[in-house]
Amino acid sequence: MDKNSYKADIGLEVHVELATRSKMFCSCAVVDTTTASPNSSVCEVCCGMPGVLPVINRNAVELAMKAALSLNCTVVETSIFARKNYFYPDLPKGYQISQYEYPLAVNGFILINTSEGEKSIHVRRAHLEEDTGKLTHVSKDGESYSLVDLNRAGVPLLEIVSEPDMHSVEDVRSYSRNLRSLLCWLGVSSGDMEKGAMRFEANLSMRPEGCEELGTRVEIKNLNSFKAMEQAILYQMDIQREKLDKGEKVKQQTLGWSENQGKTVAQRSKEDANDYRYFPEPDLPPLVVESSWLEAVKASMPELPDARRVRYRDSYGLNGEDIERLLEDKPVSDFFEACLAAAPKLAPKRIANWLLTDLFAWLNQNGKAFSDMGLSPEAFVRLVAVVDNSTINQNTGKEVLAEMLATGKTADAIIEEKGLKQVSDGNLIITLVAKSLENNLVEVQSYLAGKETVANWLFGQVMRAAQGKANPQVVKEELKRQLENLKK
Ligand code: ADP
Ligand code: MG
Ligand code: ZN
Repeated sequence: MDKNSYKADIGLEVHVELATRSKMFCSCAVVDTTTASPNSSVCEVCCGMPGVLPVINRNAVELAMKAALSLNCTVVETSIFARKNYFYPDLPKGYQISQYEYPLAVNGFILINTSEGEKSIHVRRAHLEEDTGKLTHVSKDGESYSLVDLNRAGVPLLEIVSEPDMHSVEDVRSYSRNLRSLLCWLGVSSGDMEKGAMRFEANLSMRPEGCEELGTRVEIKNLNSFKAMEQAILYQMDIQREKLDKGEKVKQQTLGWSENQGKTVAQRSKEDANDYRYFPEPDLPPLVVESSWLEAVKASMPELPDARRVRYRDSYGLNGEDIERLLEDKPVSDFFEACLAAAPKLAPKRIANWLLTDLFAWLNQNGKAFSDMGLSPEAFVRLVAVVDNSTINQNTGKEVLAEMLATGKTADAIIEEKGLKQVSDGNLIITLVAKSLENNLVEVQSYLAGKETVANWLFGQVMRAAQGKANPQVVKEELKRQLENLKK
């Protein structure tokens, strides 16, 4: 039993790999470090040879600006690169180029939705830096050594630092997921966690409920997945709570997360900014973002999910679950947008229904990805339109859609080819209903005797006689009319 209750304060530092083609300060290609052969994309700049000069990758700056704007940050006019000095074999220069005192962007926020409602998590800063190389520690046949791969050295990173505004694992989950989906949406990063495109450090402290002052924090590094981050935070919360309960002090320290052991492990006892001897990078000029550049980047940004969310809800009346499913993946939302543009007269809700229910069901059943289904928004809305204008009925529509997806043919071609046009012709339906009643006298008698449900069965018979093509509404009404007549 807890003697006291504590409030947790959590701040995240998120390292995001920017989706550029080349590295931050040289023209080496950014390669997939999980597959490329080691040290195949390196040059004298990213290897830290003496006498070379770094050059700022303009595209990396633009991606960082997009991210910063989407996080509601102020992009500052002049930011400065600094050297963060330390010695480690993953860093041949002996320092990492990073922004320190003057980051590219400051003062933003991300809105998150939690069980306690909407909250805003402040973003303190976002700054550019370069990634380090990758070390692989080998021990084999009694020998142990480390291998260095510098393919990743110099890859552009954006570090996004939050205020300690999160108070639970749920907050952390919403924040980090929102952040990831925003960055993917913008094309700023692949967001591919398995390839290390997003890495987290969590800072956590606890204080007695009601206490104003933040507690002493620990920093947990090396968190490469949402799951690892959540586990590490829960694990440290328990430890800190226990310590505080016993009246002990939490020691400020840097920890690592060991996936195998499922616990945090000590890394360094203290790491101070002073230890890095930061100083302005003498080989790079200040990074100046003129207002015209900032405006151009702003203008190139796609509509953000938050804006679409409001429109989907307020203008189209979609429900929350459908909205989130549409917004989960930008290509899906963009497809929906293209549908709306192609068929302004159709109800957005109808389009969303066909998209999220029938089209997705087909993709699931056939193990196909949305990205390679090969169906254009125009062809898709044509299908919705022919169902809406009763050319074919709903069920036939589902079959036609499946055929469209499987063959790439248009709805009209399939309807024509298979003679699927719905029969709404009154005379024909009158005849079909009359014939059905004649052929099923026993059932008609039992209906007249009061067994109302037989009407459904009779409806089925008429539809079958019409090979499913009859307009169900017209059949229903005609059947009702003829049965009522028999009652008289
Ligand atoms: P450093 O640069 O040494 O990592 P910062 O002061 O820049 O330290 O903070 C880094 C992160 O730690 C930020 O995300 C911040 O929100 C978080 N943080 C700072 N103080 C606390 C605290 N007492 N409890 C929890 N998180 C904290
Ligand atoms: Mg830190
Ligand atoms: Zn290089």
